[in-house]
Amino acid sequence: MHFGPLTVSPVLDGVVRLEPSRAYKESTPEQWTIHRQFLDADGLVELAIGGFLVRGGGDHIVLVDNGIGEHSRGAFQGGALVDNLASLGVQPDDVTDVVFTHLHFDHVGWTTHGGEVVFRKATFRCDERDWEHFLGGSEPNQLVGPILTPIQNRLVTWQGSGPLLPGIDTLAAPGHTPGSTILVISSGTERGLLLGDVVHCPVELLDEEWGGMGDVDPELARSTRNALAREIEGKDVPVAAAHFPGMVFGRLLKGQGQRYWSVD
Ligand SMILES: [Zn+2]
Repeated sequence: MHFGPLTVSPVLDGVVRLEPSRAYKESTPEQWTIHRQFLDADGLVELAIGGFLVRGGGDHIVLVDNGIGEHSRGAFQGGALVDNLASLGVQPDDVTDVVFTHLHFDHVGWTTHGGEVVFRKATFRCDERDWEHFLGGSEPNQLVGPILTPIQNRLVTWQGSGPLLPGIDTLAAPGHTPGSTILVISSGTERGLLLGDVVHCPVELLDEEWGGMGDVDPELARSTRNALAREIEGKDVPVAAAHFPGMVFGRLLKGQGQRYWSVD
């Protein structure tokens, strides 16, 4: 996906396939009958895991989130991100900035491998509220603490919404985590959004009935998600998220009393 000189490429780390009732505990078979387009051939919800490579913003080679890496848990299995990065012509030492939409384990996993920092020349960036939530206090989060502690000397945090890097702005989107952030990729009048885990599957954008997954504050996450859907519907803004199938961009279209999802 191109936005002026900026190129955004999905970098897959793995794929999870879940029973619909496990992915969305309150969902009903009737809902899925209507939204069959979001299930795979086996009737499962497919969730990608990975990050997005953003190139073309000056000298910056930016990786937005970095998958699970060696920290696979249950159905959440990763491991392919560095190889897929190489197939895009990028080695770990080429990455100048690693930007986290939030600090859940399936977005920060490749930060370290065997305890060593993988992107050795990168500056790491996240909202300061997430760093405080997961690593502040006397007891760092058991899951991500060991993964993230080695980068604390090269971490630069931001506060809420604002400019971050050439062509990349942050948009505070709290609820999934306290510092959950949407990244706005733009050049001139062209604009696209990387949604982090504000939305896991595009079905969550179609109406306001769907819950999220793993939200720290489910009510705040729901209002953030619904505000996003109202903001982008019919606006022809391409959006993508780390868990969308294939991590491909799509657009939220406005129909008669109904929204539609169109894949780019
Ligand atoms: Zn996630």
